[in-house]
Amino acid sequence: MRFLADAMLGKLAEWLRLLGYDTVSAADLPFVDDDYLLDIAEDEGRVLLTKDKELYQRAKKEGVEAVLVEGKDVEEQLAFLVKKGLIELREVPSLERCPRCNGLLRRASKEEVKGQVPVGVYMSHEEFWICTNCGQIYWKGSHWKRMKEFVERVKALI
Ligand SMILES: [Zn+2]
Repeated sequence: MRFLADAMLGKLAEWLRLLGYDTVSAADLPFVDDDYLLDIAEDEGRVLLTKDKELYQRAKKEGVEAVLVEGKDVEEQLAFLVKKGLIELREVPSLERCPRCNGLLRRASKEEVKGQVPVGVYMSHEEFWICTNCGQIYWKGSHWKRMKEFVERVKALI
């Protein structure tokens, strides 16, 4: 399942990427316009996720797969997608996709990230990942625990 999230769902797009789902965010596109969004969804076989009822109805009319996302925050929105059977709450982060740009991650050697991460992080971590698209480096820091807690909160809503 691949997604295209509208500009109002940027946070949701980040979380879908953390879960490993290939997700384009309209907020990252050079310009935002409904026709353009519908073209991308259709050409790339992406399910359009939107909060915009008008856009949703247009998508349906044009045969583009779309979901009118419910939920006031990203926890509720993820729970909604799980209940709809569109996604599964897998291990987070999946370390497959960059939450910033949707690029694929690969393992990086410790040598490779030397000088590119804070010294304290370099000293205390053995495992690193790098985005093959934007070059962002990831490691299992304190945010790791917070992500797991977040997923627990989503699970509680299902
Ligand atoms: Zn990236």
